[in-house]
Amino acid sequence: MDPSRSWLRLAKFSLGVGDRFGQQAQAQLRACRMAAEHGVEVVPVWNKSNREHLIVGSEPASVRAAAAAAVRELGWEKPWHVDADHIRLDTVDRFLAHADFFTLDVADAVGKPPGAGAIEAFAGRHPELARRLDLPGAAAPLHATRADVERIAREYLVAVQEAAAIYRRIAAANGEGRFITEVSIDETERPQTPLELLVILAALAEARVPLQTIAPKFTGRFNKGVDYVGDVAQFEREFSDDLAVLAFAVKTFGLPANLKLSVHSGSDKFALYPPIRRVLQRRDAGLHLKTAGTTWLEELLGLAKAGGKGLALAKEIYAEAVERRDELCAPYAAVIDIDRARLPKAGVVATWTSEQFASALRHDPANSVFNPHLRQLLHVAYKLAATRSERYLKSVADCRATIARNVTANLYGRHLKPLFVGLDECEESVPLSPTANSRRRPNDCRASDP
Ligand SMILES: [Zn+2]
Repeated sequence: MDPSRSWLRLAKFSLGVGDRFGQQAQAQLRACRMAAEHGVEVVPVWNKSNREHLIVGSEPASVRAAAAAAVRELGWEKPWHVDADHIRLDTVDRFLAHADFFTLDVADAVGKPPGAGAIEAFAGRHPELARRLDLPGAAAPLHATRADVERIAREYLVAVQEAAAIYRRIAAANGEGRFITEVSIDETERPQTPLELLVILAALAEARVPLQTIAPKFTGRFNKGVDYVGDVAQFEREFSDDLAVLAFAVKTFGLPANLKLSVHSGSDKFALYPPIRRVLQRRDAGLHLKTAGTTWLEELLGLAKAGGKGLALAKEIYAEAVERRDELCAPYAAVIDIDRARLPKAGVVATWTSEQFASALRHDPANSVFNPHLRQLLHVAYKLAATRSERYLKSVADCRATIARNVTANLYGRHLKPLFVGLDECEESVPLSPTANSRRRPNDCRASDP
């Protein structure tokens, strides 16, 4: 990196928001405005992947247009960005003119063997990695041998080269320093350990990829739209060690000083927000939380609650989703866990009232009829709204005010507040973990949900 150049810099805290149908940018931005009113700057980043554009049939230009309109209407004067999410060398081009944040997805290249001699050469250039490393703030020192470094290089070097190739393509088109780079390796089979993250960062620095955020795959399951499944204490340790690795990599390899972690499939991870907040505060570290489909589910909830045609449309979408579940779930296999046996039959759902549909869909772990299988399936079923787009958009417009209120309340109350702003005293005991089975939450402390 040329230190004399002024680089577009990602703020310490940022929230990735997805807006499948381009209707909620203002409601989303309001959540960031609420955080600002509480004294915390959280910068909005509107993200949409190539996969989403293909499924919905939208164009990258539309994301920037919707975001810019919201920024104008609300008079937002802080930074905001548009993220070409999960792009690869073969999909980046259509995003170049419309994004200033690029998430280079190199998960497919993980595990591909590098060319002859590349592994040994890399390990030879990095003796500093093959030793005992006392990272400030880490739970324990990292002990790596040359064999460890070679094993990790074998698994990740090609992915790093891929990231460098995509980065150079964007830099050639848009100009170095004029966009923010994220590298994502979250959609892989195995999580990365802190040591693996360290070697990957060393390789990215060497390949001159000035990334400002990195999305590793963390331990445990990050399923779409539902809570974390895994060992929260182990997650907290690893998350903290990952931050120690990032700080070390910034100092040692000259990566951008604001390098931070990005948590993908980050919506609804209620069990993780308190530990993440603790660790961020302890280390004075930043975070990018990437969410997407939680907003589309708020639209669907709004329709269900409206009753009449809205409810009928929600039921129709569910019925088709059950029928086409294999096709809908395939692109998201790494980030959903749906037990088909626990999906209610379409015929049963057809008889539901608004409240029954909403209770099954709304992410309230303390509600015994909340159904995470149904919620995950609908999360990935937005294609079915796209195929009925005229009717869908009309229904969403009919309950615009309610949906907008819920989109804002969901993002602020259940995401930004616990993560970045801090809960009020009465909220500290909110039983948000999926294991919680009692309803101890006092009504006046409810974070969102009308
Ligand atoms: Zn991702």
